[in-house]
Amino acid sequence: MDGPACPLCGDDTHTVKVSAIYRLQSGSPLATLLAPPPEPQNRGVFTWLGGIIGALALAYLLVKIGSDMYGPPMDLATLPVLVAAFCIPWIIGQVIDRALLLPARRRYQRELRRWDSALYCTKHDVVFGPDTPRPASPLKFAAQLRG
Ligand SMILES: [Zn+2]
Repeated sequence: MDGPACPLCGDDTHTVKVSAIYRLQSGSPLATLLAPPPEPQNRGVFTWLGGIIGALALAYLLVKIGSDMYGPPMDLATLPVLVAAFCIPWIIGQVIDRALLLPARRRYQRELRRWDSALYCTKHDVVFGPDTPRPASPLKFAAQLRG
């Protein structure tokens, strides 16, 4: 294999890509240890909150319209107002959720690049690569990716 040399061997004779180990030895303890970093998940707390606020706003407007029994009947122009009353808080919630996830997503992209470029030396049981200049044990490498 013509790859970067293991800093301990001085050549690439025993070098395998970490991503290849993960794919080809799937399920093995080493492959499990050398899994890619977990993708950050959006729990959607603010989307839910926005949805609840939107539902309350919608309910309030419907009750208010219903209580105006002696007023003019509800016309079609009211419909966009009702849709907006629900959708605007919900959309704002989504925007907040995405914005809060942004730093975690950036970090994830960085760690994924690092993982993708990392190599493993089968002779020395170390991980190294352009983004992992100091050779680390698979356990330490995994901890760094998830730290
Ligand atoms: Zn080596």
